[in-house]
Amino acid sequence: MSTALPGQVAAQFWRDCDTVLLDMDGTLLDLSFDNWFWREAVPRCLARARGGPAQEVRERLFEHFARKQGSLDWYCLDYWTRELGLDLRALKEASSHRIRYLPGAREFLQQAQRSGKRLVLVTNAHAETLEVKKGVSGLGRYFELCLSSHAFGSPKESAEFWPRLQDRLGFDPDRTLFVDDSTPVLDAAQRFGIAGVVAVRRPDSRAPLRTVDHHHSVEGVAGLLGA
Ligand SMILES: [Mg+2]
Repeated sequence: MSTALPGQVAAQFWRDCDTVLLDMDGTLLDLSFDNWFWREAVPRCLARARGGPAQEVRERLFEHFARKQGSLDWYCLDYWTRELGLDLRALKEASSHRIRYLPGAREFLQQAQRSGKRLVLVTNAHAETLEVKKGVSGLGRYFELCLSSHAFGSPKESAEFWPRLQDRLGFDPDRTLFVDDSTPVLDAAQRFGIAGVVAVRRPDSRAPLRTVDHHHSVEGVAGLLGA
C-alpha cells in the first residue's frame, strides 16, 4: 500500500480523528535547516576546530552520524556537543534565523487549530532544540503540548515510545492522526495501531520530492485538509 493520499481519503482521515500528532522537522519546519546545519555548518566548524583536512573530517563525522542514526543520541545535542567538542548550542542559536516553516504549514496549523481538534507536537528533537525552534517560529501557540521523545527515554521509531506517549496523553489510537517524514517512525506508529498514519513527501523544500512506499502520503501537511 502506498502513495499519494487521495483528497477524499485525506478528508476522511481528518474527519475521523480527534487527536492530531505532528512531527516538527520535515513535517512543519523545513528540513533544509537541519540538513544545512548538520551536513555543512557542523563539518565546517569541526574542520576549523581540529585543523585537519576538511574532507577527511567530514567523512569521519558522517560515518559517526551513520552509526548513531535512529538512536536518541543521534537527536541529542548534548551527545554531539560532548563528542565533537563544539558549542553546538551557540552555533544553533547563531543560525536560527534560517529556521523556516515548510510551504503551507503555518496556514495548515491555523486551520487545524480552528477545527477544535487536539493538536500535539511530538518530536525527536532535543528539548533545547525544540525551545530554539519554538522561539523562532512561534510554533508553540498552535499546540496544546509540545513533547520531545527524550523525556520518554526512547525515540519515536522504537516500539517502547508509543505506549508511553499514550499513557501521557490518553489518546484513542482509532481516532488519532499522526504525520511524520521518517519511515521508521511511521512504521512504529502503525505497528502500535494509530489509525491515520501519513508521510510527508517533501520534508526539505530544496530537495526533490520523495517516493514513499507502505504509507499514505502528502507532499506537505496542507494536503491533509483534502484540498
Ligand atoms: Mg521529522
